[in-house]
Amino acid sequence: MRKNIVAGNWKMNTLLKEGMELATAVNSLAKNKTSNATVIIAPPFTHLAEIKKTLTDVKLAAQNCASEESGAFTGEVSVGMLKSLGAEYIIIGHSERRAYYHEDNAILAKKVNLCLAAGLKPIFCIGEVLPERNANKHFDVVKSQLSEGVFHLSPDAFENLVIAYEPVWAIGTGVTASPEQAQEMHKFIRSVIAEKYGSQLADSTTILYGGSCKGSNAKELFANPDVDGGLIGGASLKAEEFLQIVNAF
Ligand code: PEP
Repeated sequence: MRKNIVAGNWKMNTLLKEGMELATAVNSLAKNKTSNATVIIAPPFTHLAEIKKTLTDVKLAAQNCASEESGAFTGEVSVGMLKSLGAEYIIIGHSERRAYYHEDNAILAKKVNLCLAAGLKPIFCIGEVLPERNANKHFDVVKSQLSEGVFHLSPDAFENLVIAYEPVWAIGTGVTASPEQAQEMHKFIRSVIAEKYGSQLADSTTILYGGSCKGSNAKELFANPDVDGGLIGGASLKAEEFLQIVNAF
């Protein structure tokens, strides 16, 4: 059976003190969660070491990593550094990284490789922008993000990947994909993985939905057979609402 996961992407929010308070609150609520979902938080880089010390029931993710292993890359943070702080997952290819920092599938493939080589798990984000959906190109876009970003992996490596489908038009906009739109795309993604790696690996791949998922709509999204949880932005900054999402299975 594949894993259910709810991961909170804090983005560039919270100063250290607020972040510590939020992480502590999420961790303590997670002790009494009523679902089997793995709970992950992705605070800013600067908070990871301190927050890690407080976590018992929540796993730690980074929001990004360098595309090189080490060396003269001023301002970058390597996978090895993140691992040394206790991160177990790294979000790779978030649409904000793709759009604002021009990260293309070739760069993202390098990040995925480094992450896996270090024994960490990538949460690999894919998703179309609105004009692509309106032009009925969303399936093609998502398929090429998968084939250029992660389909070079061996089946053994692919097994360690989490996929997050995040339609860009739904991120931070308050507009959520309908449960039918989410299910349709998740089913498609699973079929593309099955074509490449076979149905057993496709069936065991966790595929998260992201894009204005909140306490009030998580249940109907997670009720879909191919939606295995969520990557949550805004609503992950409120401990109680985030746990409401965790418990929405
Ligand atoms: C995200 O940034 O990954 C995200 C899903 O954001 P939000 O939940 O705020 O739409």
